[in-house]
Amino acid sequence: MKWLKADIRKIESLIVEGSTAALTYAALEGRLAIEKVVYERLQINHKYISPEDLKKWQPKYVVTKLIQEVDANVASSFTLSMSKDPVSPDEEFSQEKAEAIEYVEVGRQVGFDAKRLSKHWQALSSFLHVKVPLSSEEMISSYSDTEILKTKLSELLDLLRPISEGTLIMNSPGEDVYFHCECGVENIRKSQFLTDNQTVNCHNKDCNASWLVRFHDDRIVFEREIVSIKCAVCSAQNEFAKKTFFNMDRKQIAHFECKQCGASNEARWHLINVTPEKCH
Ligand SMILES: [Zn+2]
Ligand SMILES: [Zn+2]
Repeated sequence: MKWLKADIRKIESLIVEGSTAALTYAALEGRLAIEKVVYERLQINHKYISPEDLKKWQPKYVVTKLIQEVDANVASSFTLSMSKDPVSPDEEFSQEKAEAIEYVEVGRQVGFDAKRLSKHWQALSSFLHVKVPLSSEEMISSYSDTEILKTKLSELLDLLRPISEGTLIMNSPGEDVYFHCECGVENIRKSQFLTDNQTVNCHNKDCNASWLVRFHDDRIVFEREIVSIKCAVCSAQNEFAKKTFFNMDRKQIAHFECKQCGASNEARWHLINVTPEKCH
């Protein structure tokens, strides 16, 4: 990974320079490098998860979410090899034959410990902020302890160097399932990471549709999540994406025109008194 090697060299030269300002800048470069390592893995997998399902952006959260919902090997090490000579699709393929084939390496993905990387990302953050004074007597200092920062940077470089030796990143093979959203966008998901009754959001950031995953025997079905509201004039049911109302503030009033009679309607959240069922 050329870009990471360049980032590492930049951090190393800042450490050699050694001034407090240079080391503080190195802390910032270190944090950016961690984010780039993680977001690069997100980038190649982004078609499998919508921005709304991702919800947060912190490196540890992003990696955990990708492992759970997109690719269990996103932070793992593996080597991709291919046979030197073409293999006929008609040929019978046995374990012995596979082992006898001569392979050439295509590339290597180097994994990382997301927890440790995230710990360093957080630790470096403390060097990029001014310490809050705990009393009137306490002096305000622009920089933190540079010796501790040097140690943290050196530990981070030990984590980044092996990752920089990777020559590729890729997503693991698996069955893709598709569903077309009403907005026209085709959404893709990896079937093995879906669970029954899971809600997934449309990939289109301008679309507020959400879909419920349902397992029917060996089929996966995506059901649009809707809220149905009766028109106050003609009683026709008007359907809306669930999030239209579920993301609405309690005091907010939504306006809609009935699709049947065109009457203007208003809707808002209403707190009601519910009498609990009596136990017999
Ligand atoms: Zn959509
Ligand atoms: Zn109506």
